Amino acid sequence: MKSLNSRPYLYFFAPLLIIILLYFYAERWLRATLLYLSSAAWARRLMTSFAPAWYVASRFVAGETIADAMRVTGQLNQRGMLATLDFLGESVTDPIEAGAARDEILDLLDAIYRHRVGAGVSLKLSQLGVKIDPQLALDNMRCILRQAARRRQFVRMDMEESTLVDTTLEIFRALNEDYGFENTGVVIQSYLYRSEVDVQNLIAKGASVRLCKGAYMEPPEIAYPDKKDTDANFVRLMEMLLGPQARETGVRAAIATHDETMIDATTTFAQQTDLPRDAFELQMLFGVRRELQERLVSRGYKVRIYVPYGTAWYPYLMRRLAERPANLWFFISNFFRR
Ligand SMILES: Cc1cc2nc3c(=O)[nH]c(=O)nc-3n(C[C@H](O)[C@H](O)[C@H](O)COP(=O)(O)OP(=O)(O)OC[C@H]3O[C@@H](n4cnc5c(N)ncnc54)[C@H](O)[C@@H]3O)c2cc1C
Repeated sequence: MKSLNSRPYLYFFAPLLIIILLYFYAERWLRATLLYLSSAAWARRLMTSFAPAWYVASRFVAGETIADAMRVTGQLNQRGMLATLDFLGESVTDPIEAGAARDEILDLLDAIYRHRVGAGVSLKLSQLGVKIDPQLALDNMRCILRQAARRRQFVRMDMEESTLVDTTLEIFRALNEDYGFENTGVVIQSYLYRSEVDVQNLIAKGASVRLCKGAYMEPPEIAYPDKKDTDANFVRLMEMLLGPQARETGVRAAIATHDETMIDATTTFAQQTDLPRDAFELQMLFGVRRELQERLVSRGYKVRIYVPYGTAWYPYLMRRLAERPANLWFFISNFFRR
């Protein structure tokens, strides 16, 4: 009887123990392990069946429903921040699931409009079926943008793993032909070698671009393996997105990072080139560096918080743990406190 009861704990602690050992051995390996676990179905089943995992996820997630997202957005707006709301979900394999995600996002746009909160929407093309058929994702996006355009709401497509970059940019181009650049934007990841060319093309079109470092596991053939190179490229791309050519074409740039060195580089560049503080956005994730968010608002910067909600929180949580393995201690201490 005793051994039966302890088995789930054994299953749970085995991967955890491996992770802790890796933490001491090599942070890069740990990061890779967490990113591998983020897409492993067996690990998702294991983690989501343990209630304490949700308590950790809830540090980064507003809740499960649109009502939770509205409540958190109202609080952020009161603190002088905007939000971009993300209905959690990705890599769907069934067109019915993709349709359900589209309908939820339409309801979300409707709720944002009715509650009159300061928020846009972020979504992933893989939750709209791009891995099943890119045309399905494009059709779902058209449906979402038709509603968004009527009420002048903004929808951004997150950037996912590198195999989806070309398709995402193609879908973005197709949508721009129908709806222009007013209601939709895309994301560029500074860890990819190709991003400088992509940014150049997006600047030429006057697109709305969020710049981030990138959160997926990518091979050295296509992405900088060293953080210092990703950071240097981030600064290079930020200067392009806030630079004279981008201003001329009407680019709307969002610089998404919690890295104070990157934020300082951004605010210094803006100051040195006479770019007003509200001419670009600084974006951060819900639950990360809250004091920094407050500080930037008090200095007059436009700050937008990425707020996820929904029940499909597992891969999102694992990517947040991979970004900062120290969050694992928070995870473990919560486990024992429960
Ligand atoms: C608004 C927004 C949207 C994003 N959209 C995308 C996207 O579409 N595609 C994509 O691939 N990636 C996206 N990301 C994730 C991004 O690529 C990075 O993985 C993530 O932001 C961590 O990198 P960093 O720039 O904060 O710098 P890092 O160098 O990773 O971190 C700098 C410091 O920030 C703090 N920090 C960073 N992450 C965490 C965390 N999880 N928990 C606690 N502290 C932390 C730590 O103090 C750390 O030392 C997005 C990030 C943001 C903020």
